[in-house]
Amino acid sequence: CLLLPLLFGLFAAWQERTHLFQDMVARFAVLLAFGSVALGLEQSYPQALLAWLAEIRWPALHGAWMSLIQLSYPVFIAAFLLLAIQYWRNPRPLHAAQLVGLLGLFWMLPKTFILPFTLNIMCSQVMLMIAAAVAHEAYQMAFRDELTGLPGRRALNERMQRLGRNYVLAMSDVDHFKKFNDTHGHDVGDQVLRLVASKLSKVSGGGRAYRYGGEEFAVVFAGKTLEECMPHLEVIRETIANYNIQLRNQENRPQDDQQGRQRRGAAAASSVSVTVSIGVAERQMEHRSPEEVLKSADQALYSAKGAGRNCVMAFGQNRRGAVRMDTAAG
Ligand code: GH3
Ligand code: MG
Ligand code: MG
Repeated sequence: CLLLPLLFGLFAAWQERTHLFQDMVARFAVLLAFGSVALGLEQSYPQALLAWLAEIRWPALHGAWMSLIQLSYPVFIAAFLLLAIQYWRNPRPLHAAQLVGLLGLFWMLPKTFILPFTLNIMCSQVMLMIAAAVAHEAYQMAFRDELTGLPGRRALNERMQRLGRNYVLAMSDVDHFKKFNDTHGHDVGDQVLRLVASKLSKVSGGGRAYRYGGEEFAVVFAGKTLEECMPHLEVIRETIANYNIQLRNQENRPQDDQQGRQRRGAAAASSVSVTVSIGVAERQMEHRSPEEVLKSADQALYSAKGAGRNCVMAFGQNRRGAVRMDTAAG
């Protein structure tokens, strides 16, 4: 009753910092240390240990429903708080499963002394839940881009295999981003990528944004035509271009709050903005695969860069705003 919540809490909050193998050895060492101390005490002083465990230290706090030893409850509470804080600071599926697992243990532990096999079932349930959480995390890692939270390249590849006959793909790329990074630093660059991603994720007209890689994002419009998509992409381009990003000066950050409040109103925050260029391609007869459509969108993006950036260009379009209609589908 004492060791279960203690070790569960300890191992669930344990962060893997070093080499995985060393980490596993360290975990086993802790398990062995706790286990051997407990076993040693039980062998050497059985009566004294039993009396110490069974003692009701706080009679005022002891309820009739408490069927575990009293010491077990503060340990459960401490483990719960530890895992709750861990989940609050970093809400990963695994942390949620560990928290629910602890509650399950708390609920089932008294029953293991009455019903046979309860301990086995309980442990299997907790293990299954943790395995499911790990699978969930692995899926997220593979399909979600960590920086921006958008679905990543793998998710795009999978989506592209399930597109029907008609769709539009757009490729967008942040303009002069290398220079932006050099001027403001990589951290600010990352912040800007998150912002661009959040704007792109809100694209209207049924589009879905993906982080293609680096500062390039793809938008998929399934079952749509070029004419239907262009206005929505134009809106996104304009939204991003008009958005002022407030930068807090990292070097001379104010020491105290009072000073900070005074300065924030003044010139402490400088504002910057970025623009994106977008290339768009609609699936046409001569495209044999979605990858070819994407290549066309990339070519259109190249034209958009050539046309002075901060604009939306369609594949086969040679002038801003005019779509050439002599393509096979047109
Ligand atoms: P262009 O207008 O022609 O697109 O110019 P550019 O400088 O944006 O072109 P380029 O593709 O050469 O530069 C991409 C830069 O994007 C290079 C790299 O510094 C930056 N970058 C790529 N991925 C990340 C990232 O995850 N975070 C940050 N901060 N920068 C990134
Ligand atoms: Mg690029
Ligand atoms: Mg770029």
